[in-house]
Amino acid sequence: MILSNKHNLHACWENLALYSQQDRERELNDFAEVDVFSATDLLRPPRELQLTQQHHDKIDTDVSNQIDLLIGTAIHAHLAKCAPQGALTEKRYAMSFGTSEGRSVKLTGKIDVFYQGILTDFKSGKVARYSRGVPFENEAQLNIYRYLMHHHGIEVDELEVSVWYKDWSVAIHEAKTAKRQNYPEAPIERLRVPAWSIPDTHDYIEQRFAKHIAAKTQLPLCSDDERWLRDQKWKVKKEGRVNAVRVFETKDDAEKFMEAPINPAGRPYAKSEKNKFYIEYEQGAYVKCMHFCSAASVCEQNNNNPIKAFLE
Ligand code: SF4
Repeated sequence: MILSNKHNLHACWENLALYSQQDRERELNDFAEVDVFSATDLLRPPRELQLTQQHHDKIDTDVSNQIDLLIGTAIHAHLAKCAPQGALTEKRYAMSFGTSEGRSVKLTGKIDVFYQGILTDFKSGKVARYSRGVPFENEAQLNIYRYLMHHHGIEVDELEVSVWYKDWSVAIHEAKTAKRQNYPEAPIERLRVPAWSIPDTHDYIEQRFAKHIAAKTQLPLCSDDERWLRDQKWKVKKEGRVNAVRVFETKDDAEKFMEAPINPAGRPYAKSEKNKFYIEYEQGAYVKCMHFCSAASVCEQNNNNPIKAFLE
């Protein structure tokens, strides 16, 4: 992977990115003799993983795109140093996994902290991402770690995510409205994650392996879910206000609202306010392809269709 620094960030950032990349490569080289998949690789779209591996030397990644990852790595390292005595931290587990097709692959995963029977993964993200519970990828990742530890004779009783909300706001928290009853109490929260049975986790891992192995012979397309499709929206906005008054999935609904707009208390808006309303269209987009996929620069599916084409 070619590391660039297009925005002339300080050399400290550049070096941190370089060391982190070398660290990751060194760790995975220890298992280079067979097909090796980390838990996070297993959860990536098979197309993305294949393209990243096939075009590893051509993919250009900029330090500025890695800031979140680098800050996350630095925080993980510091938290590991502060773990209570007796905790297991930043430990990588590996095991051979025989697929039902008779193929032997290696599964690895590096845990954050295991202490007093609880396996914790440190995450960061926006409040909205966790507002409907822990995302499935986090749940699957932790259960794969639990499975790996089980095969090393360590039983995990409970799973949790310790999430840092990067956009948590004291002002929003204090002004909690009926609409935001579930706003987190603090910028960091512990969220319980359901533990799957070991046979169920085995089946899930096997299904993921099957998809990745099949992708080696026939490169699949990514689904809309894998590409993080953000649907098109029609926003009713008001002059002088940043946030939308209401957001609609269809143009018709937005236009109907404009004819007789009602405020959140259920009362009609005054004519003077109503005259300031206008509709803004937001195109649908594949958010992962546009901003977060490591294979985006070499992916034809993305280059042919980076923005979702919708008919209005
Ligand atoms: S760029 Fe989009 S379509 Fe291509 S591999 Fe990445 S997520 Fe999939």
